[in-house]
Amino acid sequence: MDYKKRMRELIEQINEHNYNYYILDNPTISDADYDKLLDELMKLEKDNNFVFDDSPSQRVGAEVNSNFEKEPHLVPLYSLDKRQKIDELKAWYDDIMSKYPNTKFSFEYKFDGLTITILYENGVFQKAMTRGNGVIGEVVTNQVKTIKSIPLSIPYKKKVIVQGEAIMLKSELERYNKKNAEPLKNVRNAAAGAIRNLNPQVTKERNLDMYFYAVPYIETEDINSQEEVFQFLKENKFKVHSFNKIVTKFEEITELINKVDKEKEKIDILIDGVVLKINEFKTCEELGYTSRFPKFAIAYKFAPQELTSKVLDVKFQVGRTGKITPLAIIEPIFLSGATIQRATLNNYSDIMRKKVKINSYVYVRRSNEVIPEIMGVARDTEDSRDIILPTVCPSCGQPLKQEDIETFCTNYWGCPAQIQKRIVHFCSKDAMNIEGVSDKTIDSFYTKLKIRYPYQLYDLSKEELLTLDKFKDKKTDNIYDNIQNSKNPTLDKFIYALGIKNIGKKTAKDLARHFKTFENFKNASFEELNSVTDIAEIIAQCIIDYFADSKNIELIDKLFERGVLPQNNTNDGKGIFEGKTFVLTGTLDNFTREEATLEIESRGGKVTSSVSKNTDYLLAGESVGSKYDKAVALGIKILNEKDFVDMIN
Ligand code: AMP
Ligand code: ZN
Repeated sequence: MDYKKRMRELIEQINEHNYNYYILDNPTISDADYDKLLDELMKLEKDNNFVFDDSPSQRVGAEVNSNFEKEPHLVPLYSLDKRQKIDELKAWYDDIMSKYPNTKFSFEYKFDGLTITILYENGVFQKAMTRGNGVIGEVVTNQVKTIKSIPLSIPYKKKVIVQGEAIMLKSELERYNKKNAEPLKNVRNAAAGAIRNLNPQVTKERNLDMYFYAVPYIETEDINSQEEVFQFLKENKFKVHSFNKIVTKFEEITELINKVDKEKEKIDILIDGVVLKINEFKTCEELGYTSRFPKFAIAYKFAPQELTSKVLDVKFQVGRTGKITPLAIIEPIFLSGATIQRATLNNYSDIMRKKVKINSYVYVRRSNEVIPEIMGVARDTEDSRDIILPTVCPSCGQPLKQEDIETFCTNYWGCPAQIQKRIVHFCSKDAMNIEGVSDKTIDSFYTKLKIRYPYQLYDLSKEELLTLDKFKDKKTDNIYDNIQNSKNPTLDKFIYALGIKNIGKKTAKDLARHFKTFENFKNASFEELNSVTDIAEIIAQCIIDYFADSKNIELIDKLFERGVLPQNNTNDGKGIFEGKTFVLTGTLDNFTREEATLEIESRGGKVTSSVSKNTDYLLAGESVGSKYDKAVALGIKILNEKDFVDMIN
């Protein structure tokens, strides 16, 4: 195709997306897809040495929202050049090192929020502005003033402009979306939408936060390096992230990048990469700028976690408790290292809330290890059509029942999908841990060998197994042994394996710790169950209901008749951490989070996910998040890894 024609196409598309993003605050594609368009355009411009006058590559931002007062920035704000591959970053680094061999770099998170500058005069907050197009920004003073962590007065009394990123914490977005009918699609849009809202009350309710990283203007003080920038910011009580580091060697840089890439999901702040800045300002000045970017700083962007894709179909799946979960079949996309063709939609209410339709484009997000999820609609198409909730179970054909926001098949004993999923659950790693049986295996157990209940697994003979597809001698021996060897699980695993509604791994552990033997657990009254820490009334009722069904008792007896015997819980919970509540943050060198949790729990302690005044200890590893700040604020005792190891030894 004629390259100019393609360039025009790209320009139109990018302009449209710019408008949606900057003016309407309602982007219809993901950042990564947007960057792809811009990258393609810039490559064409470079290869052909031709640029249209109105090309979006010629400016940094976009028009400012007409509703806000516009003003020029005292000092124009620069954007950052970016790299996405380590060898490209290395080339940038080598180039600088060849000119300035002793360069030190500031290594920082790249926060994914909205850039804000704040002007202080006489030590008082005067004016806050968005970046706008870098030259002209919007005045958002009242909005920004609602962010509680920003000081309204500072010790420094002369004129100064500070810069940082207004953000929304991931946990805050989750909290918001639980309470509000119209969900926010992601924290970046949420932060931008909150600040660029004419009503500061709305900004306030969104509970934003802000991290600072630059001083674009200062009247007196000589600030000579990025280190001194952070020093100044801290002295004046601005929030600076504890992660910032000074680095020199490229190995240090790659090591840190890998670390951040691995940990970024666990951090409550959305970061889309890291920023490297030359520390010495003298060097920065000497290097100067390209037409668009400074040469002394660069962003390294991580592969995206969120992309847009088209919904092709929605299937309704039946879980082991009968819960119906919609699963979207999407046009394949490559996202965080995997090709993705399915994404979950939680439940039908979620579909309605997010207004997802078949043939619409949606945001798909994938965090490590978790099933990809549809976050919201990017745009509808002409062929978009509503998703219809089935009235009968797709597996057994019985009418479905609505319970609050969830839909259930209540045919507990007769629904093939539920029966199979319960056996799969029984065999799973955190339950009886019978290795080698996949969903497919259970399917053939169900259809060919007529297995309906877990106890029947223990009656399976090698001869029967050999009749199944792909079951050769070795596989048969393995599976047979794995089944027979699974008979003595710990009590918590056995409780979990039963698949009682609402009993997860953690609840099963709490129950095992409290009741110690299966008999005690089985015979417990509602009151006693409810008195166990963290066992809510609903859960207690589920347990009572479960044992009230004589069929469940019969099936458990049949397991026992076949030699299944859970180990009594001998851990008396009287450890050194008895009654203590821990919160974990950052990464430890010698423990994964699960391992640290196990160490704490086996000594009678408890691990919770957020810091409150009830927290006894914060166990802090490397690259701590906001929990750390909160713990400091609340005066909670902070343990480093060594303290912790000393205590458990
Ligand atoms: P981009 O928007 O991709 O051109 O990247 C530049 C933007 O990154 C800046 O305008 C800031 O909003 C943002 N940013 C986030 N964290 C930092 C940081 N630590 N230093 C500089 N800029 C940052
Ligand atoms: Zn069913």
